[in-house]
Amino acid sequence: MWGGPVLDTHLHLRRDPDACFTHIRGCGVTNAVLLTRAADEDKAKEEIAKRPGHFVRSVSTDPAQPGAAEVIRNAIQGGAVSVGELKYHLALDSAEMRRIYDVCAEMQVPVMMHIQSFPHFPGELPYNTGYPQFDKVLRAYPKTTFIGHGDLFWAHISADVPTDRGYPSGPVKPGGLTDRFLSDFPNLYADMSANSGNNALSRDPDYSRGFITRHRSKLIFGSDCSCTDGKGGGVSQGNNPEASRLAGKCVARATLGLLKGLTSPEVFRQITWDNGRRLFKVES
Ligand SMILES: [Zn+2]
Ligand SMILES: [Zn+2]
Repeated sequence: MWGGPVLDTHLHLRRDPDACFTHIRGCGVTNAVLLTRAADEDKAKEEIAKRPGHFVRSVSTDPAQPGAAEVIRNAIQGGAVSVGELKYHLALDSAEMRRIYDVCAEMQVPVMMHIQSFPHFPGELPYNTGYPQFDKVLRAYPKTTFIGHGDLFWAHISADVPTDRGYPSGPVKPGGLTDRFLSDFPNLYADMSANSGNNALSRDPDYSRGFITRHRSKLIFGSDCSCTDGKGGGVSQGNNPEASRLAGKCVARATLGLLKGLTSPEVFRQITWDNGRRLFKVES
């Protein structure tokens, strides 16, 4: 469907057996990283075994819980290829997160974080706070591969970031933090999944073309889609009212279509296959 293999690096493990396979089939994706909580490891292993050659899995656990680093280390030793997504109410530069960064450097797996400040529902607290000072972490952990994702990470594609919404629209002001961090730090990658990634790359196509060219070796395709069939059935963005622009659509299809329009076939393949395959050690 997309002219070659496609790796979705951000597909949450689903409750129903084989539902992830149904999704990738429906949207023309060939491979996926199943984002897996440590408690669901056995279920992920079953899904992977059932559809050989299509899936690998990550592991996530709350870094603030005692023994979190051990849980992560054991999962990687048991076959997990990455850590994430980490979506907890912690500072990016906290002792809890630093312990995870250390394990990821030691085990040579990437860590993906959901970075969000503006709430999707009343009372929702921010995740992975302190993004404006994240350069300190990137500098302190040169052997850790970080993957940024989420509303605030992508809002910072622009130098001006409004505080009254999660998904700013309109022209991008050059010099955004995320653009600069990607240029300055070889250990930072960007996961373009969900409405956050799609919105950031849709809002100013001329800017996006330059951004994608600059960071073509640092961008990885992911969907974070929750539609049922890979065609927009069910609910694709968790009923988040702010993400209604993607209601009724499959995020994987929407973002792959967007990328097709913004890139050459060579860059499309790099972003949707090569970069992720290398980071997540996917066998071709
Ligand atoms: Zn997320
Ligand atoms: Zn979908």
